[in-house]
Amino acid sequence: MRVLGIETSCDETAVALVETNPWSTDILAQVISSQIELHRPYGGVVPEMATREHLRNLPLLVPQVMKEVNLSLDAIDAVAATEGPGLASSLLIGHSYARALAIALSKPMIGVNHLEGHLISPFLANRRAVEFPFVGLIASGGHTLLVHALGWDRYLKLGSTVDDAAGEAFDKVAKLIGLPYPGGPEIEKMALKGNPEAFGLPRSFPERDNLNFSFSGLKTAVRFFYEKSPQMQTEPEWAYDLCASFQKAVVDVLVRKAVAAVAQSRVERLAVSGGVLCNKMLREELEFTCYEAGIDLVLADAASCTDNAGMIAGVAAEKLAAGVEPRCGDDINPNLSLFASSEADGDAARGLSAAIKLKNRQAKKGLQEEDVVAPGEVEVW
Ligand code: ADP
Ligand code: MG
Repeated sequence: MRVLGIETSCDETAVALVETNPWSTDILAQVISSQIELHRPYGGVVPEMATREHLRNLPLLVPQVMKEVNLSLDAIDAVAATEGPGLASSLLIGHSYARALAIALSKPMIGVNHLEGHLISPFLANRRAVEFPFVGLIASGGHTLLVHALGWDRYLKLGSTVDDAAGEAFDKVAKLIGLPYPGGPEIEKMALKGNPEAFGLPRSFPERDNLNFSFSGLKTAVRFFYEKSPQMQTEPEWAYDLCASFQKAVVDVLVRKAVAAVAQSRVERLAVSGGVLCNKMLREELEFTCYEAGIDLVLADAASCTDNAGMIAGVAAEKLAAGVEPRCGDDINPNLSLFASSEADGDAARGLSAAIKLKNRQAKKGLQEEDVVAPGEVEVW
């Protein structure tokens, strides 16, 4: 079975074609058009610009994918698109395009939860069948989320961030010390030259039954050391050490809580995805710790850590193959949750307050507040 997937939840237009086989789902072709450079001058994503880019890109990217595999559109069995969560105007473009295509081809249209895509992307990347149950860790610019995945559509939230997402913490610390967005790769480069033990930075380690994350104390400690140490400006080694210590603190917390979540859920498998997983130290620490603990670790690769359409098509294809009824794809839902309704309410409230807070800082760029959202924030929901 072949499924064409479209992902436009934020500022990346992505299209992919996947094919199921008896053992796994293969990504036959995928393309991503990133808008990072377009939005960079505004310090965040401008929704209207993102929308227009998606509109321009999709009619180019869909034929490009089909050409790469040398197939016509008739060869696909279903069309899938991200239903949410995400930026409403961006979601609408991909969803409408996919729906129109499905109607024209007389094929089913399937709506996919973006977060479900992230959860299964490590399995796709490793050409493995999605094996439930497992614990999923998503660490990105908009999310830090631990999920007990019991089966398709059966997800329990184990923990999430009470303030900044892990990637957001990297971005904010980078901004504090004058590094460009996105901050994660910049901090990683600086950290390579520094000593991770140089600064004693706080870690919010797991308390009993609490797998939530908090990075605001860590961020404040970094600010304190940066602002109170005049050497930061004159001796680069100080900034290298601060970056290395910060990176180590984030990695320690992510690894320790993920492993605690696996133990608490009594599962054997940990699947990790999200942009922060591009961090080499995080990957190595996860590999080392899971090996020691006998945990089956499934890591997304660099191409599937961040937003992509392979994961959207993958969810639809795997569900169809497993006989699970997928979402019908009638409408988008910018606040779509992975969890039961009570959890969704909590997510929505948290997402709203984070969105308001982050939007405020865009006003000074000369655009109206409502015109700009900060990178990653649309995925807070
Ligand atoms: P979102 O879709 O939620 O915006 P992504 O999955 O696209 O997030 O990931 C982007 C985030 O990942 C950014 O916050 C970025 O700083 C972070 N990131 C990317 N590469 C690295 C890295 N090497 N180390 C740490 N963080 C990283
Ligand atoms: Mg994402």
